[in-house]
Amino acid sequence: MFDYLIVGAGFAGSVLAERLASQENKKVLIIDKRNHIAGNAFDHYNEAGILVHKYGPHIFHTNSKDVFDYLSNFTEWRSYEHRVLASVDGQLLPIPINLDTINKLYGLNLTAFEVDEFFESVAEKVDKITTSEDVVVSKVGRELYEKFFRNYTRKQWGMDPSELDKSVTSRVPTRTNRDDRYFTDTYQAMPLHGFTRMFEKMLSHPNIKVMLNTDYKEIEDIIPFKEMIFTGPVDEYFGFRFGKLPYRSLEFKHETLNTEKMLPTAVVNYPNEQPYTRITEFKYLTGQQHPKTSVVYEYPQAEGDPYYPVPRPENAELYNQYKKLADQTPNVHFVGRLATYKYYNMDQVVAQALTLFKKISIRETNSENA
Ligand code: FAD
Ligand code: UDP
Repeated sequence: MFDYLIVGAGFAGSVLAERLASQENKKVLIIDKRNHIAGNAFDHYNEAGILVHKYGPHIFHTNSKDVFDYLSNFTEWRSYEHRVLASVDGQLLPIPINLDTINKLYGLNLTAFEVDEFFESVAEKVDKITTSEDVVVSKVGRELYEKFFRNYTRKQWGMDPSELDKSVTSRVPTRTNRDDRYFTDTYQAMPLHGFTRMFEKMLSHPNIKVMLNTDYKEIEDIIPFKEMIFTGPVDEYFGFRFGKLPYRSLEFKHETLNTEKMLPTAVVNYPNEQPYTRITEFKYLTGQQHPKTSVVYEYPQAEGDPYYPVPRPENAELYNQYKKLADQTPNVHFVGRLATYKYYNMDQVVAQALTLFKKISIRETNSENA
């Protein structure tokens, strides 16, 4: 008899498996329908011997000391600050938009103060910022919105930024200085030996059994357990009874080239011309030295594995119906990006899992004392 059946061996499931096994001495069975652990953060050495991320670029960044300290139990780190260029009007320009972006795009030599005035002169007045279009046009005006955001977003999400919640494009700030880092978090680093190695360490506890290539529906009636932690899509768990929650998918096209470097930076975004949104060159992320190089192209798709919950009001409403049901389902905990339908980064999922663990742990202590 297992104390916990954990469905999904990504961040949400693996953090809970590790905590429950090591801190509460629980017997845990963690399963995944894929043939590997680590969920979407899975990385592996490809046929050329280059460390690549199977499901697109994963860059770790967080402001949470708790999350960073927790993961540091399972990995050493390589400091890494992420930089991205956008291909616009035949040039490669820093994104997030900063002082250099504007100066290069328009052939100007503005100061930080002047670029601030420039943004103010082109910004559109928006009374209430609610959509992903509002966020950008209210800061940098329509022309920059159209060059850098509108088409990228339409391609990535299959809908116009005006149909998406403001939280989507709010992920990308606007700067008047020359800081060209994609993230400004306190902790920015990559697991020194990769994400999968870190997950192997998390799951290497004698109380944890790992079962791959297994959908939970194949075993939930066969293997006895007391409680379930579910990290798959919440609508699927409930048999889509209120309808399907929309997810956006991607197709990843991996390529290895017979050259040491392909791109001038880790990622190049293609807002306008190409059918893909971005190309990532993994050696920048991992620091690996190798005579060849591997890259991945991301092609957005409507169908396929559910990678992105789609933040917009009607989807939040539909999710709330599922959430009510989830809250009333005894002995099943829903956690992670798919089970709580949240566009979360890795660190946010770790934080969410640690919070759920604390709740379970307090409940255990209370029931022991009762
Ligand atoms: P997942 O990693 O999706 O794990 C869920 C697991 O459950 C999966 O392995 C799935 O196979 C399994 N599962 C589902 N249903 C079943 C079932 N019925 N039976 C058995 N198993 C099942 N975050 C960052 O912080 N930085 C980044 O740079 C970054 N880049 C990203 C790039 C892309 C292209 C994508 C898609 C995401 C990116 N993320 C990034 C987000 C990151 O991937 C997620 O925050 C994180 O992986 C979510 O962890 P999770 O455990 O909730 O879900
Ligand atoms: N975005 C854009 N142009 C860019 C970069 C981002 O329009 O050059 C928008 C787009 O809608 C994207 C969102 O901002 O989906 C969030 O970007 P981020 O890089 O955080 O996406 P992720 O890495 O999660 O795919």
